[in-house]
Amino acid sequence: MNSFLKRALSVIPGGVNSPVRAFHGVDAEPFFVREAQGAYLQTEDGRKLIDFCLSFGPLILGHAHRAVVSTIIAAAKKGTSYAVTTEAELRLAELIRSAVPSMEKVRLVSSGTEAAMTAVRLARGFTGRAKILKFSGCYHGHADCMLVQAGSGVAGIASASSAGIPEAFARETLVAPYNDLAAAQALVQEHGADLAAVIVEPIAANMGLVLPKPGFLAELRQMCTASGALLIFDEVITGFRLCFGGFQKLCAITPDLTCLGKIIGGGMPIGALGGRSDIMDHLAPLGPVYQAGTLSGNPLSVASGLATLETLAATLPYAGLEQAAEAFAAELRACAARTGLELQVPQYGSMFGLFFSNQPVESFADTQRCNSKMFAALFHKLLQSGIYIPPSPFEVCFLSTAHDHALLETALHAFTQSFAGLGNQ
Ligand SMILES: *Cc1c(COP(=O)(O)O)cnc(C)c1O
Repeated sequence: MNSFLKRALSVIPGGVNSPVRAFHGVDAEPFFVREAQGAYLQTEDGRKLIDFCLSFGPLILGHAHRAVVSTIIAAAKKGTSYAVTTEAELRLAELIRSAVPSMEKVRLVSSGTEAAMTAVRLARGFTGRAKILKFSGCYHGHADCMLVQAGSGVAGIASASSAGIPEAFARETLVAPYNDLAAAQALVQEHGADLAAVIVEPIAANMGLVLPKPGFLAELRQMCTASGALLIFDEVITGFRLCFGGFQKLCAITPDLTCLGKIIGGGMPIGALGGRSDIMDHLAPLGPVYQAGTLSGNPLSVASGLATLETLAATLPYAGLEQAAEAFAAELRACAARTGLELQVPQYGSMFGLFFSNQPVESFADTQRCNSKMFAALFHKLLQSGIYIPPSPFEVCFLSTAHDHALLETALHAFTQSFAGLGNQ
């Protein structure tokens, strides 16, 4: 065990400040990072790794992007927190609204967890109803109401997926399988009058990458409108990842509330929720739904987010990123086929997933049937070849604008070698 890990385990639970970082999902010892630049991570033990994890999504411009870093430094020199509103916060909120018009009003918070938690509280306060519906395999941060899983028996009976959450809380969250309209319909039919919101990742990117089936999101929109529940799109990953705006722009479906995070902070802590003005005005100080944050809209996160979004708006790298990811995923599929591996490589925009399965993966249940031993073996092989993919089969790989053609060729070579060395697990 390396000396950093020894120290970490003695002072931090599990040695990490967020569980996936412990690498338990791939049965590996976590490395420590010294610094990062562009598409590369440098580890404390002197390795240079091509990073396909990218802090789980925020770094669409790569690590330590010049404009982002210089904007953060300039802001820091003027003070790191005032807890009084700044003009920069207005610019960020205006930029978000211009790109995601359904977010008529925007509240900045400090994490995606806070954004989703607040969106649910707001939906409950606005509708006067208690229950929410979520989908298994979607992640919306770690608020109590979100850490709920479908029960194995009766449809719709759910239980907490974490200790420390009273069953009485968990009962207010209904769970349906992602992409299963009939299950969602049945739950809305039964609980409609008490349903405050349906929350969904419009593209599921926290169980690997699972795309919505045609009609799934449109039908959810209809069901919400008919039942009076609010539709919440959790676009913490998809926001500004696939186009300059949300996935809602690409699928042309308008949610009532939207959650953002990750890219809008450019690697600094942030979250945002927004939506219809009449709903948003139910938040304190105008309305009765309480929400607050000492460091909400802090100058450093806002500077980092503004620099990131302004760079994206000026350069619009989305078509290029998508082409690169599409070509890369196609090469991986071809290579896996040549090697005789049963591998699915779903891809959308600059995201792709790696499922060891002989059939397409469309739900959380499907993801549970994938070969996680093969994924762990691939993770190890790639790491030995200088490639870092997310340390869990349930995360997705990302490209950044720093992943240029030459670098992707190098990475492809490493994948090819790693596939060949996998054998049967
Ligand atoms: C990452 C993520 C969150 C949680 O954001 P944090 O900033 O980690 O709290 C919520 N929803 C989705 C879809 C995410 O990917």
